[in-house]
Amino acid sequence: LLKVFQGCRRASLCSGYGMAERIKVILRVRPFNSRETQEEGGTQEAFTLRAPGTVTLVNTRDGAGGDPYSPQQDASSRLASGAQQHVGTSSFGYDHVFASDPDGPCFATQETMFDAVGMPLVENALNAYNGCAFFYGQTGAGKSHSCLGNPKSEEQKGLLPRCCERLFQALQEVKDTTPGEVKYNVLVSYLEIYNEKLSDLLAPKSQAKDLQVRLHPQLGPHVPGLSQLPVLSYDAMDDILEEGAKQRIVAATNMNATSSRSHAIFSVDIRMNKSGVDSQAHIHFVDLAGSERQKKTGAEGDRLKEGIAINQSLSVLGKVISALSSSKKGGPAPFRESKLTLLLKEALSGNSRTVLIACISPSMYNQEESVSTLEFASRCKMIATSAAKNQVDRRDQIEALEAEKKEMEDLLGQI
Ligand code: ADP
Repeated sequence: LLKVFQGCRRASLCSGYGMAERIKVILRVRPFNSRETQEEGGTQEAFTLRAPGTVTLVNTRDGAGGDPYSPQQDASSRLASGAQQHVGTSSFGYDHVFASDPDGPCFATQETMFDAVGMPLVENALNAYNGCAFFYGQTGAGKSHSCLGNPKSEEQKGLLPRCCERLFQALQEVKDTTPGEVKYNVLVSYLEIYNEKLSDLLAPKSQAKDLQVRLHPQLGPHVPGLSQLPVLSYDAMDDILEEGAKQRIVAATNMNATSSRSHAIFSVDIRMNKSGVDSQAHIHFVDLAGSERQKKTGAEGDRLKEGIAINQSLSVLGKVISALSSSKKGGPAPFRESKLTLLLKEALSGNSRTVLIACISPSMYNQEESVSTLEFASRCKMIATSAAKNQVDRRDQIEALEAEKKEMEDLLGQI
């Protein structure tokens, strides 16, 4: 009996290892902004798009780019150059490409993004699978618009508020269809990483603590002391989001920075018991710092050094992605070299269904930065995670206990 009890206590909410699944990659191209339209050649498009997921570089003056599907290039030379398969070629393929021109190819609204990316994240979480959505790209490329958008606008709300809204609707539906059999808890946390320091965006300022990331053998990476607030409805979640976003701006101003230099992670943790089955899953929404190269920001001297240090998490993320996607399989990926990568270890290589939303500008003016985002996104496409169902059927454990008890009673009866 003791053995069975110990087994139950040790049992984490995990039914074993999951199947390897590749990280999904979505490319989102924002509309031209006024700065681009005013720059020389600003309205010149840097890419041609083809539904559902192909992007081809438009030739630049120095000859880069070009359409690998042009009649001049036959199939064998395309294959030889590895077009569409390898980083460094002029055509890139993703799970989806979403653009903002209603008359052009691949047009997508915030709602389209939610249907393709958000709905599966929510459904997976309700089925006890962890999820993570990363938003990557240079400053101004559309990361915050895609992640948060304007939560107060029905049309403009981003992926995060839409997922939260759907989550509470779905939980209510489960409760209505199986009355009395379902109990659930939703907890949220909101974290910022700036210059390798962690801030709790949901803690009162007076309770600011020095937070650290720890690796727990069962829980995986976690942050002891980070606030986890219980949330009962979407409206309450919306208030929390607003409060956290305000704190992010205050924190950035205090540090003489802009929020484009920090990473924000909003996490939703769902714990459910349905007819004796315990399940748990989280969704992380990760709005990363701007990926632009520091040289390009015009910073020099100490400011440049500071910029590089601030972006340590992002450059380590690049190294981790390169190591995980490399076919040569060199040494282990350097997760421990930054807070961000350590915290998101599972999302990048373990128990999570992960999606990358890579955001770019449409303009030739930004083509160089956009290409670096496209290359990052292509490497992510080569990475697999292995999501497992975080679920324990307590009924099985009770049955096992009863069977063991009966066995012991029979044994005792024979003595
Ligand atoms: P980032 O978070 O990457 O720095 P933002 O999300 O703040 O960039 O986007 C910069 C500007 O471009 C914002 O004014 C935003 O509303 C606008 N924008 C970005 N993506 C889109 C889009 N897909 N459709 C319409 N406007 C967009």
